[in-house]
Amino acid sequence: MMRRYRSGKIVATIGPASCKFENLERMLLGGVDVFRLNFSHGSHEEHEQVYNSIRSLGKKHSCFPTVLADLQGPKLRVGQFENDKIILKAGDVFRFDLDSAPGDARRVNLPHLEILEVLQVGSSILLDDGKLRFEVLSCSPKYAEVKVLVGGPLSNRKGVNVPHVMLPIPALTEKDRKDLNFALGLGVNWVAISFVQSVDDVENAKKIIDGRAGIISKLEKPMAIKALEPIVEASDAVMIARGDLGVEMNQEDVPAIQKRIINVCHRLGRPVIVATQMLESMISAPSPTRAEVSDVATAVYSGADATMLSAESASGQYPFESIDIMSKIITKTESDPCCLRRLEDDAQLPNRTVVDALCVAAKDAAEFSCANAIVLFTDSFDTVVRCSRMRPVVPIILVVDTEILACKAGLCNGVYAVISKKEFNFEKICKFAKDIAAEHKFAAAGDVIVVLSDISENSLSICRL
Ligand code: ATP
Ligand code: MG
Ligand code: MG
Repeated sequence: MMRRYRSGKIVATIGPASCKFENLERMLLGGVDVFRLNFSHGSHEEHEQVYNSIRSLGKKHSCFPTVLADLQGPKLRVGQFENDKIILKAGDVFRFDLDSAPGDARRVNLPHLEILEVLQVGSSILLDDGKLRFEVLSCSPKYAEVKVLVGGPLSNRKGVNVPHVMLPIPALTEKDRKDLNFALGLGVNWVAISFVQSVDDVENAKKIIDGRAGIISKLEKPMAIKALEPIVEASDAVMIARGDLGVEMNQEDVPAIQKRIINVCHRLGRPVIVATQMLESMISAPSPTRAEVSDVATAVYSGADATMLSAESASGQYPFESIDIMSKIITKTESDPCCLRRLEDDAQLPNRTVVDALCVAAKDAAEFSCANAIVLFTDSFDTVVRCSRMRPVVPIILVVDTEILACKAGLCNGVYAVISKKEFNFEKICKFAKDIAAEHKFAAAGDVIVVLSDISENSLSICRL
């Protein structure tokens, strides 16, 4: 187990700044719980190499890192530049066209006939999560000539949004299907589906995935927010992808939507990740802005399972610093008594099921016996999620007999996994739990732990080491 002193998890996107073995190791030791392979960037060979490195690091450090494959979905992107990057100034005239030749300061490839066909003079085009803004001066199905309204740096394959325009593109593209098969072949634990708009989008992906990985729906379209509950229910976990969400909706609506999504996820028991621009300025600065620190803390206060780093860890100049700072913010915020109280206020009632009865009993037992940890023996990911959803005040040490379940559980708030052969006798389970808690320094002689098992029969015990 990679011992952490926080419950909130860190998801880090892997890219050129972090893909080497030594860098991945530094990230794992520095606090990354979930490694995100973004199939919008990089080749299959690169992703495979990263995947293999992560798995061998897991072996080396006896822990179970989680791997998430993020599918691009029908995201519109510009092509590449001759020198990887240009700078645009307000007032410049620029051109998007169908020519696949590398771009320069005057033009770049926009390989999407379907956008060019629906543009009109005066339409606005947004790039890189809305950071750059353009207005169409003239257009045809082959090109769009635009005026730069808001400039800035523009690098390879940045995302393009055309707000308020419905584009006729399917949810899982041809590329996504290939990437999905490849990622499942590697053995990733979670797959994130981009631009989910309906329950059908989730169900279709589920059919293909067929239990081989958990499904994370990325909520980034206004349509998804309209069908929020059924989409969350159909998914195994959720990512609040604020990049595209903030472009397609009013920015000032995003914080309330974020809170609403987290609440629905809590109620239904689905792990939830807050993503995009969390420590954005750390792409090029060694410390974050006050506002960014607050943003991460807010996600923790509102009860997110995990917070995510995008370009900060994938291509920024300070990938390790951003992980370290995110880890510190989470740890510090969780230690605020106000954080616990707030989560208590938001606490979700247990369902009338045996599993929830056990989980709520374990949470209460841990709190009132001043236990150091809950040690959970189970075969079922559902039990893990239900237990994590209760947000007990102590960490949950998950004991499972398969690596797949151990790795998958890494996304869940407060859950840290160890592997052990299956034990059915509850007396032995308790003895085992004490050994594990002591070995991983959750508890020492005289301390109390709560042991919960639903392996052969449902049992709960409060044990003193
Ligand atoms: P998404 O919509 O899936 O978030 P994105 O383009 O915003 O796509 P992020 O994963 O959020 O991608 O990362 C932000 C930026 O980091 C990217 O736009 C890209 O410039 C860079 N980046 C991320 N991963 C890679 C990679 N594997 N190779 C090259 N650049 C990468
Ligand atoms: Mg996206
Ligand atoms: Mg992004």
